[in-house]
Amino acid sequence: MRLILLGAPGAGKGTQAEMLMKLYNIPTISTGNIFREHISKNTELGQEAKKYMDEGKLVPDELVLELVKDRIVQKDCENGMILDGFPRTIPQAKALDAMLKEIGKPIDSVLDVEVPDEVIIERMAGRTVCPSCGASYHKLFKVETVPGICNECSTHLIQREDDKEETVKKRLEVYHAQTKPLIDHYQQQDKVLVIDGVGTVDEVRARVKKALGVN
Ligand SMILES: [Zn+2]
Repeated sequence: MRLILLGAPGAGKGTQAEMLMKLYNIPTISTGNIFREHISKNTELGQEAKKYMDEGKLVPDELVLELVKDRIVQKDCENGMILDGFPRTIPQAKALDAMLKEIGKPIDSVLDVEVPDEVIIERMAGRTVCPSCGASYHKLFKVETVPGICNECSTHLIQREDDKEETVKKRLEVYHAQTKPLIDHYQQQDKVLVIDGVGTVDEVRARVKKALGVN
């Protein structure tokens, strides 16, 4: 099963990826992990990618494609793989399609875990964290005893920059602008499975399985 997994930050994509990895015995592939592996092993491709990253530049698509191809032909991808965070653009998607066609391993489905922005904002913007002991809280799911004070060590709780409503909104805007064209691209190939990502982990898991035709 070769899948592309799409979902906004905070949509619970990671949890579903874990389930799919076990279900199909396939790895999740992200370009970040591939880069890190090649760089730590100091491969030729890794050295090349590192040059761009050290200069703060984007790694060119051709090089990313080579790295992804090198990863997909490895033994643990025999049963397939989940692509997470790649492709991000239409040129990347087209290049990926061509490469996978060439090696006879086309994408089966694109799973799009959809959660309305308001729900994601509520999930993420409700989080607070203790800067001293690291304990985390949530205004809906894990409420501290004294408002704004850590249960464990009585330190004032803070909100991470990443969890602030404005930050979350901006990240969602970027995500939608980037992802919409990809969804259109794969819809033309009739490969998009839209999953309602609102609900418990088990509910969403059941929907994913149903969409993939698994009991
Ligand atoms: Zn604390």
